[in-house]
Amino acid sequence: ASFRGPILQATGLTKRFAGVVANEGIDFTVRAGELRGIIGPNGAGKSTFFKMLTCEIAPTKGKIVFEGRDITGLGVTDVCQLGLTKSYQVNQLFNRLTVRQNVEIAALAELRGKFKLDLLRSVASVPGLQEQVEHTLALVNLGARADAPVSELAYGEKRRLEVGLALASSPSLLLLDEPLAGMSPSERVETVALLKSIAKGRTMIIIDHDMDALFELAERITVLQEGRLLVEGTPQEIKRNPQVQEAYLGG
Ligand code: ADP
Ligand code: MG
Repeated sequence: ASFRGPILQATGLTKRFAGVVANEGIDFTVRAGELRGIIGPNGAGKSTFFKMLTCEIAPTKGKIVFEGRDITGLGVTDVCQLGLTKSYQVNQLFNRLTVRQNVEIAALAELRGKFKLDLLRSVASVPGLQEQVEHTLALVNLGARADAPVSELAYGEKRRLEVGLALASSPSLLLLDEPLAGMSPSERVETVALLKSIAKGRTMIIIDHDMDALFELAERITVLQEGRLLVEGTPQEIKRNPQVQEAYLGG
C-alpha cells in the first residue's frame, strides 16, 4: 500500500504464436488512478496484450511489474488476488443463476484463497460480502435486475454484468476488453456513462475499436498496430497524429 511507483509497468512485452507475432516489444506504464484506452484494428494484438498483463498467457519475452512486484509467470488466480483483474470478452456467465448469484460467486471466488472458503458456503457468512455484492450491482446499474436469471437479461445487461463480475473482487487495476462490443447506440451511451462512474477512484484500462467512445472516456490512449505500439498520447494528440489519421481516419 505504501508503493509509490507506477501501478503497472510492462517492459519489452512480446508474444509469438507459431508463425504469428501477436505483440512485439511493448513498453507500457500506468500510474495509479489513470483511465487508459487501447485502440487498434482487429488482430492488432490488443487481447493478447491484456492476456499477458493478467498472466493468462505467458510472454515469449518481457517483464510485467504490478505495484512494484514482478508478476511475470504468476498464475491468473494469484494475480487476481493481488488486485489485477480483467473482464472477459467471452461470455462467462451462469445462465440459470440470478444476476446476484453470479456476482456472489465472483466475489467468493476471489476470497477463496484468503479465507479457504467453500464456494457453496453462504455469502451471509462472510463479513461485509453482502454489502460488496449489492454495491457492485449498483455500480453496474443492475440492482433492479438482481433476482432475474441471467438468461432473461438483454445483451447490454449481460455485458454490464460481465464488468460487475470483474468488479466483484474489488481490483485496484481493472482491465476491460471491449466492454462496448456489440451494443446498440443507446446501450453504448449508457455503458460509457457507467464506465466513467466506475472509473472514479480506480485504475482502468479499456480496449475498444471505436475511437469516439475511447476518446470520450480515456485520459491517455495507446494505439497498437500489427503487434507494436504505434503511438501513445492524450485523445487530442492521438487525433492529430498523422500516422493515426492515415491508419484510421482515411488520411
Ligand atoms: P485483437 O484483440 O487486437 O483483435 P489478438 O490479440 O486477439 O488481436 O490477436 C493478435 C494476433 O495474434 C492475431 O493475428 C491472432 O490471430 C493471433 N493470435 C491470438 N491468439 C492466438 C493463439 N492462441 N494462437 C495463435 N494465434 C493467435
Ligand atoms: Mg480482441
